[in-house]
Amino acid sequence: MSADYEKLFAEIAAYAARRRAEDSSRYHAPSASYAQQVGGFQLDLSQAAEPDQVIRELMELAEPGLAAITAPRFFGWVMGGSNPTGVAADWLTSIWGQNAGNHIATPAAAAAETASAAALLELLDLPREASVGFVTGATMASFTCLAAARGAVLRRAGWNIDADGMAGCPPISIVVGEEAHSTIFAGLKYLGFGERNFVKVAVNREGAMEMDAFVAAMRTVQGPAIVIGQAGHINSGAFDPFVDIAQIARERGAWLHVDGAFGLWANATQTHRLQCEGLDLADSWSVDGHKWLQTPYDCAYAIVRDRESHLRAMQIAASYLPTAAGADRVPADYVPELSRRARGFATWAMIRLLGRQGIADMVSRHCALAQRFAEALGAEPGVEIMNDVVLNQVAVHFGADAQTAAVVARVQAGGECFVAGASWRGKAIMRISVTNENTTEADVDRSVAAMLEAWRAVRG
Ligand SMILES: *Cc1c(COP(=O)(O)O)cnc(C)c1O
Repeated sequence: MSADYEKLFAEIAAYAARRRAEDSSRYHAPSASYAQQVGGFQLDLSQAAEPDQVIRELMELAEPGLAAITAPRFFGWVMGGSNPTGVAADWLTSIWGQNAGNHIATPAAAAAETASAAALLELLDLPREASVGFVTGATMASFTCLAAARGAVLRRAGWNIDADGMAGCPPISIVVGEEAHSTIFAGLKYLGFGERNFVKVAVNREGAMEMDAFVAAMRTVQGPAIVIGQAGHINSGAFDPFVDIAQIARERGAWLHVDGAFGLWANATQTHRLQCEGLDLADSWSVDGHKWLQTPYDCAYAIVRDRESHLRAMQIAASYLPTAAGADRVPADYVPELSRRARGFATWAMIRLLGRQGIADMVSRHCALAQRFAEALGAEPGVEIMNDVVLNQVAVHFGADAQTAAVVARVQAGGECFVAGASWRGKAIMRISVTNENTTEADVDRSVAAMLEAWRAVRG
């Protein structure tokens, strides 16, 4: 290795340690706008550069436009903190340059997935015979699972999608809660489904499917059906009532998919697993590594009970590609991509780092911190906590829509913590999501103070 690279890697390592050490005192908002960043990043194609110059330039250019997602008072959307051990494993993944598609070429990458897959099924307490695909995010996890579902329900109706495709196939009904995550509809779109295929089920105040409405919806459905439930509503954290949903879906011969991007991790806890009851009866599950498990982006898992359906949807066959022999698991067989990142390494590292109890404790702790937010904010006149805080999500309304938006803007500009806005049940909300491993009670208290200060300033 040339000395150049030695220096380059050493510099990056030192920078990384410095940057993470500053996280808890970090100003929690990017100082440069997207437009400014686009200007800065413009490339002059006539110029080449030395490696160290490239990397130094990249660090300098990006710095003002970086969000504090790894910092402990970042509560925007639902984003994990890219744990340093996971990041180190991810560096190794890049250093090794393994293409995880092929278990013959890269036995270590494939084996890390095999071991992690088994551990994930244990942790999440899902059927141990299920197959697991390592994908980019929960969006692709749901896409993958729903592709398996589509083929399976059509085969049950006597239609061979592998031979005949979808043109002319029996119509498939998609029974889904009115407040399913937008990425579910994205996945369905990629799979050839549209609005008229959806039977949308009314939800309760927390965004969970109403059982009566679900039963009524299932009565209207004829032919092949896919039911999509949610473990962890993005605003409330609510779970669909899976015990009943799973039973009815099963009786009806429908495939049940669960979007559990972050909420499925509740099943790894002792404190919050009750609301997961029944979801182990589903046929497929999507769950992120890069949210609650704290792996770096991109990392998620497509889990399918019936391996055969998973394989039939995703397997890529070519004369130059190895096929599964005996117990050999071919990583590419369970995901849409062939060549890809070896996501098993970071997953393995995070599970090895935290262990079963560490993961359970972290998830439980985040839920307790969400409670702490709700209690402190809810005690303030004019502040409404809009959800039952059953998990790690808190939806807050401040007085009126315009005031809520103003509070969010003020909190963001203040830089003490980061939250984002949304609208829910016809009202503007500030969403708080606790998903960073390093968040402490003190971080919550500092953030509450910043939020209440913003609210008092807005209220006048
Ligand atoms: C984040 C999220 C998704 C999408 O996951 P990505 O990893 O961003 O692709 C899907 N469903 C829910 C409930 C989510 O919170």
